Amino acid sequence: MADNVTTAVLEEWVRTFATQVAENRDHLTELDAAIGDADHGSNMDRGMKAAVAALDETPPATAGALFTKVGMTLVSTVGGASGPLFGTFFLRMGTSFGDSDAVTPQDFATALRAGLGGVVARGKAEPGDKTMYDALAPAVDALDAALAEQSPLGAGLKAARDAAAAGRDATTPMLARKGRASYLGERSVGHQDPGATTVALLLEAATESSF
Ligand code: ADP
Ligand code: MG
Repeated sequence: MADNVTTAVLEEWVRTFATQVAENRDHLTELDAAIGDADHGSNMDRGMKAAVAALDETPPATAGALFTKVGMTLVSTVGGASGPLFGTFFLRMGTSFGDSDAVTPQDFATALRAGLGGVVARGKAEPGDKTMYDALAPAVDALDAALAEQSPLGAGLKAARDAAAAGRDATTPMLARKGRASYLGERSVGHQDPGATTVALLLEAATESSF
């Protein structure tokens, strides 16, 4: 039977993601300068720094409490589209875990899919709209497929990371149909989506954590 996922590992993932966002802050902002308003890196970095500070202050006892805290912090500290979108993603993950102490790999995949559902409920993105959805949906699908083939969670997350990176790259030729980039119409073509880039970092961070 597969090992359960501890709250400590989930917290390590969130903290690793925060570090990745900080390291890639300028890159994310440059991507947003091309098709948006040049604030995506600073938005996400502000939000994730606040989330880490909140975790330092009150270490969460459960996965549910962890992701609820991260989501609420993002919603309350980040303006723009990404605060509510990434915030809802983490909040829905938190709700999916509930107050359970024993998180299985399947529970983790279920929570990730619930997070994706939250992004769609908030932003109404469809495949090919050139948003964070285009990296997140393939990652969630890849993890589900890997677990269905009895892969361990670590291997499933590597597959999810690769799918997110491919999804991120696939946003470059897309014409933006949601968010600020959609105001550019044809001029959005040829630029990688910032939010999809952040999602790829989120999955990269998972493979660098001790799942
Ligand atoms: P803003 O666009 O308000 O300045 P950010 O720059 O922080 O916010 O985030 C932009 C990113 O948000 C985009 O690159 C895209 O991935 C994502 N995004 C925008 N609108 C939507 C939406 N409706 N659904 C999903 N993702 C979206
Ligand atoms: Mg922006």
